[in-house]
Amino acid sequence: MADTASRVAIVTGAARGIGAAVASRLADDGLAVALLDLDESGTAATAEKIRAAGGRALAVGLDVSRSDQVEAAVQRVADELGAPTVLVNNAGILRDNLLFKMTDDDWDAVVNVHLRGSFLMSRAVQKFQTQEKWGRIVNLSSTSALGNRGQANYSAAKAGLQGFTKTLAIELGKFGVTVNAVAPGFIATEMTAATAARVGVDFEDFKRGAAQQIPVQRVGQPEDVAHTVSFLVSEGAGFVSGQVVYVAGGPKD
Ligand code: NAP
Repeated sequence: MADTASRVAIVTGAARGIGAAVASRLADDGLAVALLDLDESGTAATAEKIRAAGGRALAVGLDVSRSDQVEAAVQRVADELGAPTVLVNNAGILRDNLLFKMTDDDWDAVVNVHLRGSFLMSRAVQKFQTQEKWGRIVNLSSTSALGNRGQANYSAAKAGLQGFTKTLAIELGKFGVTVNAVAPGFIATEMTAATAARVGVDFEDFKRGAAQQIPVQRVGQPEDVAHTVSFLVSEGAGFVSGQVVYVAGGPKD
């Protein structure tokens, strides 16, 4: 097995929340980490923390739904950190609305970031993975893939990512690349805080209410997701591929 320290990971949407936790965790695991987000400066603090702890980190700004920006960002990572063989497609947005109020833009924006973004990033990174004959892709799905009121766009994108994951697992397996999805339930981040604000509920009350519906009786933290991603990225997880792992404090169908 190759030395984990020689691995280079890309995490999208790494400025905050789950992406920042995943980037920090992979750096703790010994990987060099490229933190990609819309605003490069947003990832600077996490990148600096990783460097201060002795790790290698690079902050790169891009919109994952833009093909030209994706190609340029992935090439920059390869030039400055080395061939990226680990990809975590985490960047995400919400534009919740009931179907009759959902605009074309609500639909396109969500599908473009989650689905098109993961497609563009994976296509750019697989070039390095297949050359290296090793790789890991982890896509952030969601329990919303199973259906969630007000999220026709988001649930379609998150369910689409599960099909995308299984197909890439079939195509890339022979190159030593595993592809899996992590599907979180309620994780306390700015995304869920924004949902609480949108429905007019104090975030602490919102979390307490959610926790009551969760078998382990608490909401998730970004580190819960990062731990699962760390396992799927690990050298030893090479026989786990095409799976959807629900990280939701209880079972999901
Ligand atoms: P978050 O706090 O809103 O962070 C998402 C990050 O993605 C932000 O830094 C955002 O940048 C970035 N981003 C958005 N659009 C982008 C684009 N086009 N290109 C590059 N970066 C972009 O979200 P989170 O809660 O950590 O969620 C992370 C992922 O987990 C998402 O895919 C989400 O759907 C999924 N998820 C979350 C939960 C949950 O409960 N939180 C549950 C299930 C799944 P800006 O700040 O500049 O907008």
